[in-house]
Amino acid sequence: MVLTERTLLGPGPSNPYPEATAGLAAPLLGHLDPEFIKILERTCEGLRALWGTANPVTLPLSGTGSIGMEAAFANTVRPGDVAVIAVNGLFGVRMCEVASRYGAEVVRVDHTWGEPVDVERVMAAHPAPAVVAAVHAETSTGVRSDIAALGAAVRARWDDTLLLADCVTSLGGIEVAIDAWGVDVAYSGTQKCLGVAPGLAPFTFSERAWRRRVEAPPVWYLDLGLLGAYVRGGPGGRTYHHTAPVAMIASLDAALRRIEEEGMDAVAERHRAAGLRLQEGLQEMGLELFTAEGHRLPQLTSVRVPEGVDSAKVRHELLADYGIEIGAGVGEYASSVWRIGLMGHNARLDRAELVLTALRRVLGR
Ligand code: PLP
Repeated sequence: MVLTERTLLGPGPSNPYPEATAGLAAPLLGHLDPEFIKILERTCEGLRALWGTANPVTLPLSGTGSIGMEAAFANTVRPGDVAVIAVNGLFGVRMCEVASRYGAEVVRVDHTWGEPVDVERVMAAHPAPAVVAAVHAETSTGVRSDIAALGAAVRARWDDTLLLADCVTSLGGIEVAIDAWGVDVAYSGTQKCLGVAPGLAPFTFSERAWRRRVEAPPVWYLDLGLLGAYVRGGPGGRTYHHTAPVAMIASLDAALRRIEEEGMDAVAERHRAAGLRLQEGLQEMGLELFTAEGHRLPQLTSVRVPEGVDSAKVRHELLADYGIEIGAGVGEYASSVWRIGLMGHNARLDRAELVLTALRRVLGR
């Protein structure tokens, strides 16, 4: 497995926790080896702790974060169901696309990019939706939305409506509390704050969602009826589902144990401090942050490219001269915004200072 030696800081794959790399390099176990089953079970247990849930159906899906999004809608949406989806960036747009492919009648609640989800507008969008969905940490803009407030509103008003949350960029970086927030279905990706290579989608599905689930979704591979039996083991024993990516799961297991040892509060504090320092430093340099104050993610900072500066040239120089990758903006902000990730192992003050120093040099500020 080649993980680049560069100091990758962008919103894409970044330097993983060293423990996770060691997990990838460990001797391979067979996917039905009892030793591997123990690792899988420990991983599911570790995910439950990190998600803050008792959901029995909590597992790493085999695929990137998008497979979590796909599984979330495939198992909850029947043709004609109303899905209210908050859109405040690219990944909300993708949710609409996925939900509509499963036949949902999508009620899209658009927000200005860079602003958090407006709970009142989402709640007013439809009298009785089957599903309400939102992105917790919008990687396209660096904004954090208040899923706790959305969950409280959904749970206070509807018994059956399911709440779906995209936690790809939040899990392992900032607080996530699935049960306390009333979230039914959530998914993440290993390559962001969990500090593991890309390839797995941590996933959790509540008992309420299980009762309302689509029994035979049109996509066999993501049928939770099959996947749930694989991780839980039924009365007849564990049901074979597929050849799990054992190296990736060992790597995730190692990263989860590392996060548990450090303590999630300490990990969140490390992300907070690094992100804050980066954001302060960028402003000291005279740069303007893109996302509204009070709603900025520490792990993903978006900043406006100064007038007259060639965005791509700066990104190229940072990568070529300093081994630092920062992301371009998304959509209409492709050349006017940079996105800088400090996630997982990179969420450290020294990394924040490194980016600031390199950027200052490249910009001549
Ligand atoms: N949701 C969010 C918020 C993301 O940031 C991403 C990827 O960056 C995805 C979904 C899709 O995940 P993946 O690219 O791992 O398939």
